[in-house]
Amino acid sequence: MQCPYCQSTESRVLESRSTEGGQSIRRRRECLRCKHRFTTYERIEFVPITVIKRDGNRESFDRSKLIRGMIRACEKTEITYKRIEAIVDEIEAQLQQSFEREFTTNEIGELVLKYLRQENEVAYVRFASVYRKFKGIKDFVETLNHLQKEDLNNSEDDNIWQNLEQQNASTPLLDCIS
Ligand SMILES: [Zn+2]
Repeated sequence: MQCPYCQSTESRVLESRSTEGGQSIRRRRECLRCKHRFTTYERIEFVPITVIKRDGNRESFDRSKLIRGMIRACEKTEITYKRIEAIVDEIEAQLQQSFEREFTTNEIGELVLKYLRQENEVAYVRFASVYRKFKGIKDFVETLNHLQKEDLNNSEDDNIWQNLEQQNASTPLLDCIS
């Protein structure tokens, strides 16, 4: 933060105080060079997020639209409305914290898929089918294959190792040979 008197960028904070009901922080600083004191305010930036649609049109990010799409994908799964809202909260926070103010439908869609992937495979494939505009069974099969490949590549995925262990347990090596 530049000193308004000598333009030095070196200062030390003497005091920090929350103001506007926690919406901003007021800091009292002292310039290390000229020793003048000055005050700075720190605020959370909240700028609307713009979505660039496939046809190139722009519209502002619509949280309820995303929730509706996810509800459809999560129908008859164990994912609750509350969980969907929590995921959308996380996605929105992630977009807000980015330096970018514009995102393509693709970028947001992939972000949703990243979360659904951890939640439920059915919801994942359903959401992918709508947003990636699946045209036939081939697209579903490709997505499932891709999921499986990712699982195999992800050595940290405990479920995969559990599944492999279970498979090994049910078909002992000796049985396969004899
Ligand atoms: Zn100064």
